[in-house]
Amino acid sequence: MSSQNVKKVQTQLQNLEVKFDVQKKVNALFDSDVVVQADLKQSLLKKNITELQISQIKTSELPQDQFLSHINSAVSSAKEQLNLRVKVSDLFNKVSVEPSNSNLLQAEDTIRTISNEQLKTSYQQQLTSICANYYHGKKLIALTYDDGPNPVTTPQLLDILEQNKVNASFFEIGNRIAGNEALLKRQTNDGDQISSHTWTHPVLTSLSVDEANSEITKAADLIKTVSSQDWQLFRPPYEAINQPILDKINFSAVNYDVDTLDWKIHSVDSVYQRAISGAHDGAIILMHDIHPWSVQATPKIIATLKNEGYTFVTVSQMILAKGNLELHKNYFGW
Ligand SMILES: [Zn+2]
Repeated sequence: MSSQNVKKVQTQLQNLEVKFDVQKKVNALFDSDVVVQADLKQSLLKKNITELQISQIKTSELPQDQFLSHINSAVSSAKEQLNLRVKVSDLFNKVSVEPSNSNLLQAEDTIRTISNEQLKTSYQQQLTSICANYYHGKKLIALTYDDGPNPVTTPQLLDILEQNKVNASFFEIGNRIAGNEALLKRQTNDGDQISSHTWTHPVLTSLSVDEANSEITKAADLIKTVSSQDWQLFRPPYEAINQPILDKINFSAVNYDVDTLDWKIHSVDSVYQRAISGAHDGAIILMHDIHPWSVQATPKIIATLKNEGYTFVTVSQMILAKGNLELHKNYFGW
């Protein structure tokens, strides 16, 4: 290669590096908290792109149209991220007054869309401490019901919960939702939590990771479509889950630490006795809203636990009050 050609190649390589460097800088605008809060924020406020160009990027190094298109998308993404931060802070105010199902759902949804990973983690920790403060000093208990929705027994249970002003958590089988959409809407309006209990109720550990993910996600997606509830939580059928599956999915598992055995012992009194004798601060109680004896035991369970000073929470409220909401975990109660 002639020395002239070597020089040409070197120049081209340099140009490429410079372009790459500029692109990196522009891309960094999407994520960099410092930039967004300082120079970029000022520039956005003044709608002054020129200032941004001078302060952040050497304009000569990319063709003008490419440069502008990068800047425009960086600016609109940064604007969107700034708006999200304002929204998160509003939602934190709401949650600190009332950590209701819908306030928590909105807060978690919004935090998920934050692109800066450090900031996202910090928001999740803040949400946890807001809930921990709210529930500080209270004895918490979560009633959970699996395998619904059922057109006969679920509405009876919802009436009982509503009369007693108690919210519960439901883990629904996806293929039972069609025709019962109104029940999911009512649960949402009542402030109850609805999450996936898979599509067909298989033993997830006997499936491939992809099949397990699809079982969980298919039900979660339909729940989201029908009720707008989009929790990254699910309950594995038969308590069967393992870490390799958890590591690959965008969910955490919610199990339980009080089993009423209502699937085995068909007795109102047995369900009641097992729920009460297992109750403790941080307990997650397992029942099934498809069983009439569990529905019938619920008013008495609520009355006794209220007498014992318990506050009823959903599983998300419990996780935030007692732990930290993270993906890839398996919660059993506290
Ligand atoms: Zn089940």
